[in-house]
Amino acid sequence: NHAAAAPAPQTETDLNLDPYWMPFTHNRYFKRQRPLDRLLVSAEGAYYTTVEGQRLFDCLSGLWCSSLGHRHPHIVQAVKTQLDKADYIPAFQVASPDSFRLAERIAAVAPGSLNRVFFTNSGSEAVDTALKIAVAYHRLRGEASRTRIIGREKGYHGVGLGGISAGGMVANRKMFAPLMIPGVDHLPHTHNLKEMAFSRGQPAWGAHLADELERLVALHDASTIAAVIVEPMQGSVGVVVPPLGYLQRLREICDKHGILLIFDEVICGFGRMGDWFGAQAFGVTPDLITFAKCVNNGTVPMGGVIATDAIYDAFMQGPDYMVELFHGYTYSAHALAVAAAHATLDLLHAEAVPQRFAELGRKIGDAVHGLKGEPNVVDIRNCGAAAAVELAPLPGQPGLRGLRLFEEGLKRGLLLRFTGDTVAMAPPVITTDAELDHMIEGVRACIRAVA
Ligand code: PLP
Repeated sequence: NHAAAAPAPQTETDLNLDPYWMPFTHNRYFKRQRPLDRLLVSAEGAYYTTVEGQRLFDCLSGLWCSSLGHRHPHIVQAVKTQLDKADYIPAFQVASPDSFRLAERIAAVAPGSLNRVFFTNSGSEAVDTALKIAVAYHRLRGEASRTRIIGREKGYHGVGLGGISAGGMVANRKMFAPLMIPGVDHLPHTHNLKEMAFSRGQPAWGAHLADELERLVALHDASTIAAVIVEPMQGSVGVVVPPLGYLQRLREICDKHGILLIFDEVICGFGRMGDWFGAQAFGVTPDLITFAKCVNNGTVPMGGVIATDAIYDAFMQGPDYMVELFHGYTYSAHALAVAAAHATLDLLHAEAVPQRFAELGRKIGDAVHGLKGEPNVVDIRNCGAAAAVELAPLPGQPGLRGLRLFEEGLKRGLLLRFTGDTVAMAPPVITTDAELDHMIEGVRACIRAVA
């Protein structure tokens, strides 16, 4: 019984909320409310427990990262065992054997010739690493003018300076304009309510939007463009699903013009799309993949970049005693993160997690579209084992209905994730039919409550 196991409730006055500047959070609202239902103290399986002992169903697998559910004994044991052997092992000029083994295992499940793995600590670092690799790759091959990055409107590539430059979420960019990398341009986003609202899975409309890349090539010239970066499925903005044929078309145009294609798979990677990566799920092989989150079930920070052999080989020049890529992090391939990743991969294989996500995705798709017709629902989207319900904003107060819905969810034992007035759902793979029903019916009740 989780409620009984929770520590004694703390009084609100025990906790000084002021010093902690919370990330991506309305600090003033939160600290004024002092919401005990948002103070989480333990996690197990598909549930969090609040400081008051309330259980919350984890509708988004943490922040898309704990796809197996929390504290799986195999992962917990692997991290504990590693701690008893070594806490920290540097990654520059020395390495743990397990880092090599992990890279091999990740390469084995990546598509095509994406066989070379560079480790970071987060998705943001993975993105900035991939952009650096892309630009340096062209330079090493004698095409130093290829420096431009093409991102996409509404894209989310983390919060590093490269990621916000290539990204297309305006609030994440507008304060920081002078810090952004120069020469970036953006493809149009593919979110069009008029043409694709309530599509099930991939929308039939919109592949032609990839042709905008030809327009950008015509505008800037291919000789200035290093790479295109997109999320195969856009998660953070609220599950924006690639139109049928769209990613294929991007691949063709990149190939035609010698542009590298980067898939930011920080959310899609390691099962969520019903295959190992979005690349396989959508049948398009990029040149670089960024990953993070589910690589070790969110247990210890870890991210990385998977590059093709050809990209790696381009760096292997000059005297071999010299460093080829002047880039890396103190905590690249951190021993605890590596241990957690090995255990996670064990489970992803042994429990056929990508396939089970495909199955869960079908159920989520069936269930979530049953919310059509509820008040203010303007769109429902699903892709792999992820779904989103978009609500019309309250007049003049964008985002407030989403916040209210999130708060209604807490009352009903659901930890929901909202972005603007869109609520996203991506529960862990262990979600039972009853829990899925509880989540969807809970969201229905919340939608009615905020009508
Ligand atoms: N890229 C994508 C596609 C993401 O969804 C995210 C996080 O949600 C990131 C990058 C950033 O990852 P992190 O928060 O680990 O830096």
